[in-house]
Amino acid sequence: MKLVAPDYYDKFSCIADKCRHSCCVGWEIDIDEGTYEYYKTVSGDLGEALKANISVCNGTASFTLDESERCPFLEKNGLCRLIKELGEGSLCGICADHPRFRSFYSERTEIGLGLCCEAAAELILKQEHKVGLITLEEDEESLTKDEEYLLGYRNQLFATAQDREFTVEERLENLGFLGGTHLPEKSFAEWADVFLSLERLDEAWTDKLNLLKQAKANAVPSSLEIPFEQLLVYLLYRHIPSALDDGDIASKIGFAVLSVKIIAAILSEEEKQDFETLAELVRLYSSEIEYSDENLNTIWDLLYEQND
Ligand code: SF4
Repeated sequence: MKLVAPDYYDKFSCIADKCRHSCCVGWEIDIDEGTYEYYKTVSGDLGEALKANISVCNGTASFTLDESERCPFLEKNGLCRLIKELGEGSLCGICADHPRFRSFYSERTEIGLGLCCEAAAELILKQEHKVGLITLEEDEESLTKDEEYLLGYRNQLFATAQDREFTVEERLENLGFLGGTHLPEKSFAEWADVFLSLERLDEAWTDKLNLLKQAKANAVPSSLEIPFEQLLVYLLYRHIPSALDDGDIASKIGFAVLSVKIIAAILSEEEKQDFETLAELVRLYSSEIEYSDENLNTIWDLLYEQND
């Protein structure tokens, strides 16, 4: 099995107590069986706290979030009590792994960092160079014909997304031509209604969608061309492999193009059009849309209907 990642992958580290949008708040955290068995052996105050703050539903253990939806082991100072008292190795699979995601091929795994994490978003969007892929673990890689085709096609999409001869808006057009992808003809106000009809977690996202209602353009500020390029490449890297399951590459390209247009349109209505505003907007978009299977599938279905 070959393991591949974007070339910035190893530079990631969690910013823990400096994180303003901790993944230890607002997310259900399931505990894998091995870790749950280990937690049962912990003694003393911490062992008691583990017993009191883990619930089991349909055979799956998870931390019982408090009334503010915080993990019970996230201390007020933003540090994790389990790491503090038991070390990093005591974390369950989900906590140790976040914000990583994986795409699986027959003999290849691609790993990446998800934009829902503010440290990952900052790292990804700040890359100046044309991001490439690196091999983390080299091994025989025998791919199916469909997988080989998809990877070759995605390389063309990367090259189009990274062609700095063109503006980002022109690159979006070029991606649409390359993929034969058509977005539904909707005004920004109509797109805002589509997104408002989806499941929403954070009121801040509703505020952004109200900004989208007023948007008139989705021009990318010239100072932010490269961060937008990184966003586009990330979306292609992460979502194109899903076409191996449903055979629908056009909707995945459409999703990348649409996401960039929507984020650029909201940004155009923000008080400031700077890197920090963009990074926060991208984090929010990712948490609300990419990290909800239901929302993601609704958008993909909408794009599929258009391209069928
Ligand atoms: S969201 Fe990212 S930076 Fe924040 S606590 Fe989680 S992994 Fe760390």
